[in-house]
Amino acid sequence: MGTTEVINPATGAAFTTVPSLDLAGTDAAIERAQQAFASWRAVAPGDRARLLRRFAQVVEDHLEELAQLEVRNAGHTIGNARWEAGNVRDVLNYYAGAPERLSGRQIPVAGGIDVTFHEPLGVVGIIVPWNFPMPIAGWGFVPALAAGNTVVLKPAELTPLTAIRLGELALEAGLPEHVFQVLPGKGSVVGQRFVTHPAVRKVCFTGSTEVGKSIMAGCADQVKRVTLELGGKSANIVFADADLEAAAAAAPGAVFDNAGQDCCARSRLLVEASVYDKFLALFESSVTKFRVLDPSDEKSDMGPLISSGQRETVTGFVAEADVAFRGDAPTGDGFWFPPTVLLAGSTEDRHWREEIFGPVVSVLPFRDEAEAIRLANDSEYGLSGSIWTRDVGRALRVSRAVETGALSVNSNSSVRYWTPFGGMKQSGLGRELGPDALLSFTDVKNVFISMGA
Ligand code: NAD
Repeated sequence: MGTTEVINPATGAAFTTVPSLDLAGTDAAIERAQQAFASWRAVAPGDRARLLRRFAQVVEDHLEELAQLEVRNAGHTIGNARWEAGNVRDVLNYYAGAPERLSGRQIPVAGGIDVTFHEPLGVVGIIVPWNFPMPIAGWGFVPALAAGNTVVLKPAELTPLTAIRLGELALEAGLPEHVFQVLPGKGSVVGQRFVTHPAVRKVCFTGSTEVGKSIMAGCADQVKRVTLELGGKSANIVFADADLEAAAAAAPGAVFDNAGQDCCARSRLLVEASVYDKFLALFESSVTKFRVLDPSDEKSDMGPLISSGQRETVTGFVAEADVAFRGDAPTGDGFWFPPTVLLAGSTEDRHWREEIFGPVVSVLPFRDEAEAIRLANDSEYGLSGSIWTRDVGRALRVSRAVETGALSVNSNSSVRYWTPFGGMKQSGLGRELGPDALLSFTDVKNVFISMGA
């Protein structure tokens, strides 16, 4: 077993190390999870519910500690980090209601009765990216545990600390040993073993489309279940009849939140040509007000990028583009990058087509509703998006026409734990959160019981 250095992205300095599991350590953990499965699935639904509620309470008791850890490890603003720890608590409370409601059906048939059961799968492997270490971990491990599976979870190499702490808090809350194990390590070692180990019956992967495709191909070998939450290049469509002031005031947060390292970032801004100049003037004023500060500062709207490598990638996109205007960012140590607005010459521009994963938005005018829909759909991705209009009919028409999994009208928020979240096209497969996610951690078993002669 080796170790990995953990770096504070706001300073660029290493501040701790964590273990990095090798293959033997991963196999041993998966085997422990497999052994723990029989007793965990047998825990009575009401008791499993109580344990998840207790886990939620322990997360609540440590909310500030978890948030501060994320500020240091991931450079998230303290406001966002508190929301993220709170999201883990909320998701635990939400799915704590599930074990007692995981009913099958009784289906009328001839000669007996027929019932269905939602059986847990066994060991579930969850692979988490670095951009939202806490929420994305929770969206996987919570419903998996609620449905009666045991979980092995691999955090991203850059951001393992909050996941490791959540693993400790699970034990503190009384979850039995080995039911939820956090395994820090490399994707190519620990993550890949989730794909190839036969005891892991499902892989829940969030990360890049490229790695997601290789996970899906690998899982095919054992017909392993897979949920994929991948990249995005979402459109924010502003029609001339919208409340332009509100749309412009909200547009920076829609793409620069978390320094743009958000799969839901509205990084393509489509503005109706008749209000293009007016909207851009309003947008410039709201971008310059977006505060890029030390993430531990309560007033900070945006912190640094996650790594120097990420900053290089983002810089590469901007270097080849036409910059309209930029906000401010600290200089000096840390992986800082200012909010940046680019003018798209055409839909062929690389910055218009590819996911940048930084605080960069590309702007393009459109003529009418049909062109807005065509431009929004001209992408291999389909994760989120926004529509700004006062016309209810148009809001409905465009919502139905845009090929994307999580849309908002006159709002830019995509994530509510009560509602399904996930992507169309190459943004993913399956849905997390909401009332149905639980079922994706189960298989349906049909049982016919004969009434005899
Ligand atoms: P990544 O694909 O490089 O890594 C994601 C995770 O997969 C990490 O834990 C990594 O260690 C692991 N991994 C890497 N190679 C692996 C392999 N061969 N086998 C198994 N596991 C492997 O992605 P990233 O750079 O950490 O995250 C950024 C990407 O995640 C962006 O594309 C973003 O859009 C996407 N993302 C999507 C969602 C969503 O819900 N759709 C949410 C957040 C992030």
